[in-house]
Amino acid sequence: MPALVEGDYVMLTGKIRRHLIEAVRRLRRTVEQEERRQPGDAPVEQMEAEPGVAQRALARVWHGARLACPTRASPACIAWPRGARYRSAVISVGEALRAVLDATPVLGAERVLLAAAGGRVAAEDVVSARAVPAAANSAMDGFAVRGDDVRTAPARLRLIGSAPAGTLLDVPVEPGTAAKIFTGSVVPQGADTVVRVEDTEECDGVVTVRVPVKAGANVRNAGEDIEIDAVVVQAGTLLGPADLGVLASVGRATVAVHRRPRVAVMSTGAELVEVDETPGRGQVVNSNAYALAAAVADAGGEPTVLPIVRDRFEDIRDHLSEAARADVVLSTGGVSVGEFDFVKEALDALGVERRFWKVAQKPGKPLTFGTRGTHLFFGLPGNPVSALVCFAVYVRPALRRLAGHRRLHLPAVEATLETPVKKASRLTEFVRVWLSEREEGWTARPAPSQSSGVLTSLGGGAGLLVGPATLDVLDAGARYPVLVLAPEALARETPVVEFA
Ligand code: AMP
Ligand code: MG
Repeated sequence: MPALVEGDYVMLTGKIRRHLIEAVRRLRRTVEQEERRQPGDAPVEQMEAEPGVAQRALARVWHGARLACPTRASPACIAWPRGARYRSAVISVGEALRAVLDATPVLGAERVLLAAAGGRVAAEDVVSARAVPAAANSAMDGFAVRGDDVRTAPARLRLIGSAPAGTLLDVPVEPGTAAKIFTGSVVPQGADTVVRVEDTEECDGVVTVRVPVKAGANVRNAGEDIEIDAVVVQAGTLLGPADLGVLASVGRATVAVHRRPRVAVMSTGAELVEVDETPGRGQVVNSNAYALAAAVADAGGEPTVLPIVRDRFEDIRDHLSEAARADVVLSTGGVSVGEFDFVKEALDALGVERRFWKVAQKPGKPLTFGTRGTHLFFGLPGNPVSALVCFAVYVRPALRRLAGHRRLHLPAVEATLETPVKKASRLTEFVRVWLSEREEGWTARPAPSQSSGVLTSLGGGAGLLVGPATLDVLDAGARYPVLVLAPEALARETPVVEFA
């Protein structure tokens, strides 16, 4: 018999009990909270009804009310008023990216050995306590002389000694004399110029300079590279090979760098098996764990891969709770509207503040993102392509910000599309393409399948052509930005100029 509970219809085959009415009231509150959580200023799209959400919310209400689940004998089902729809805010790619970066802090510093600092971001201004070079030294093998003596040629000078690199000559170079000197040798006192050995002849303790030489030639002055108190590395610098060399040259054996984000990768799905298992019918190898762990490492994070989690609310909640010790949690799967998609609710249960769910994009529409304190939670879709595309567009910039980088986003080139692509209307579509460099510039060849299950379409140095939400078709011959996922995609078979 139907019973009215504050405007909602509750169909019961058993008798109505007071606590069940209370449970339904709590369900209403949960659903209302769900709706309020959507950002108000985002473009709102009318979504399909999502009965899965209602059922799970009800399950939570039951749990909270300590009610037994309905049995076959006394099933309870909620019948929504006809035409009821959840309204779900689907935000644009730009809004989603801003929401992620607005919530992403920069991690603190740690001191590391210089040898381990490559690819890290400096967290301190490094000031040199030394000049480099410490003293004027020779840029050539030759003879240290006084500039006045070699203004005209030929000039005959008496040799007073030799100063191999690493030694110091204890006699000064007087007018009319020269000292043999080598690349890197300290220029002896009295000398201010070095004559190349190729421009001299040496015989019986006399050196003849055959060409006129400008005073000061071939001398590297003290402090020419680095002066005392100079800032040699600024905070925020990505430390590359030259920076490490500079730090070494000023005697810095350690450097303060931003901590690398620790990232937990957690795959959810009852159908998943590990890579060394043979999948049975309906089973799928957990490829996301490998793809994402590699993507995390490539973006400068420290991945930890957690065991596969089955599609049970409690399991997902408990494993997410473990994972939450990391700076960033990446889950895959279970974020859509299916009956077994528990990730959003599990995040809610852990007190993660949901920043958004659903982005007007393809692939990766069900992406969800939330925060708890400074910790970030990305609920990535399970489809391998969607997971990696969401990683490239949202997670990677966040990891880079955490690690202290200032340039967060993937590089892009503008490319001419080779064949037309029909795209999803009103969604930003990341079309997988392969780039080629032609005389007229970059061209982009779309992968034959744009299905989010076809992971091979992201291999082989593919890039992501950004199809704007406003278009339904991307025309051949038109130019579009392509996000370059791997620097290899821009590597060249031939040198950039024809070297002689
Ligand atoms: P879901 O987002 O959970 O609905 O999953 C969407 C699709 O992605 C399904 O076909 C899954 O089998 C597949 N999938 C989910 N998780 C993974 C994973 N870890 N590795 C590979 N495929 C997955
Ligand atoms: Mg799933």
